[in-house]
Amino acid sequence: MSAYQEASSPHTMNTYGRLPIALSHGQGCRVWDVNGKSYLDGLGGIAVNTLGHNHPKLVPALQDQIGKIIHSCNYYHIPHQEALAAKLVELSGLTNVFFCSTGLEANEAALKLARKFGHDKGIERPEIVVYEKAFHGRSIATLSATGNTKIQKGFGPMVEGFIRVPLNDIEALKAATANNPNVTAVFFETIQGEGGVNPMRIEYLQQVRKLCDERDWLLMIDEVQCGMGRTGKWFAHQWAGIKPDVMPLAKGLGSGVPVGAVVAGPKAAHIFQPGNHGTTFGGNPLAMRAGVETIRIMEEDGLLENAAKVGAHLQAGLRNALEGVAGFKEVRGQGLMIGVELTRPCGVLAQRAVEAGLLISVTADSVIRLVPPLILTTAEADELVAILCPLIKQFLAEPV
Ligand SMILES: *Cc1c(COP(=O)(O)O)cnc(C)c1O
Repeated sequence: MSAYQEASSPHTMNTYGRLPIALSHGQGCRVWDVNGKSYLDGLGGIAVNTLGHNHPKLVPALQDQIGKIIHSCNYYHIPHQEALAAKLVELSGLTNVFFCSTGLEANEAALKLARKFGHDKGIERPEIVVYEKAFHGRSIATLSATGNTKIQKGFGPMVEGFIRVPLNDIEALKAATANNPNVTAVFFETIQGEGGVNPMRIEYLQQVRKLCDERDWLLMIDEVQCGMGRTGKWFAHQWAGIKPDVMPLAKGLGSGVPVGAVVAGPKAAHIFQPGNHGTTFGGNPLAMRAGVETIRIMEEDGLLENAAKVGAHLQAGLRNALEGVAGFKEVRGQGLMIGVELTRPCGVLAQRAVEAGLLISVTADSVIRLVPPLILTTAEADELVAILCPLIKQFLAEPV
């Protein structure tokens, strides 16, 4: 039996089409499997490992916290929870935070805020605008908000109260909500992740902000994947100079420790009252320490600047290598959230990249997604291009 087979298990549910490796440890942007083979990490555990692996500042801080207290519970004050909330308020320009453990939970809280915002105004059947190709999670409500019928299949009936519109089309949004007094919120990702790295345009973000103000709707921006410095600003919507009313976060916030948060501005900060919402693990001392230290290290080490600089370098390298190749469509994204779209489905490239010593993912069938740790260096970006682009070219040269 190989080390990989020993590490795999027949007892977990069959929810993932897993690639045939098991990782044992990592250092920076490199990871090793249980057989000792090394990989360049272009995926960062799906935009989670902000600081890479075994970070010399994060690990001792977490060890210190584990030796003090891991979990207490929300019946008591949690000092690191206050500290992380204060920091997120400072970085976002919003005012109050609710903590949970995952992205779907943060989005679930946002959806509950939008519903109660409506009920508080006398709207009995609140409706929320959501988007084509959106991904907001796998709970029944967040799956209903998600714009992917493939992953909804088999789980109906979906939760009602959603209106779906196309991206970047303000007239379509106005038409879909015309004369509808039940609308309470507009909900989207600044850059769709699972949907294929699809950015909302700056002017569209500004138009929606204006519309939400005019109509007293909540603007709710899911920054679970594109937030936390990945695009070169703390939150991707900040490129448009706007603020949301509600902002769910998770993925990169704890650099690998599960942390979710929903950050709210004045319009949404006081909707929840005692008894309206809660979760056992949310905001626990270990998770909060991970969030506080992740942000502190990002600031100390200039990781926003690094994400912008290395991201631009990586995008240019990819374009340069793929320009003019038949079957290559485009490179898009911002900072270290990058999609390489081909003209046909290319899921097999994730497996071939593994064989070549690189971790990536393919999403929306034909988009190679790169969301590496924000500590990626330009040399590592060059290495990534040097491994990935020949695989893409070879793939595209094969008969369909
Ligand atoms: C991953 C993701 C989620 C769901 O987060 P989980 O932690 O997997 O529940 C929600 N929204 C976006 C934009 C995501 O990328």
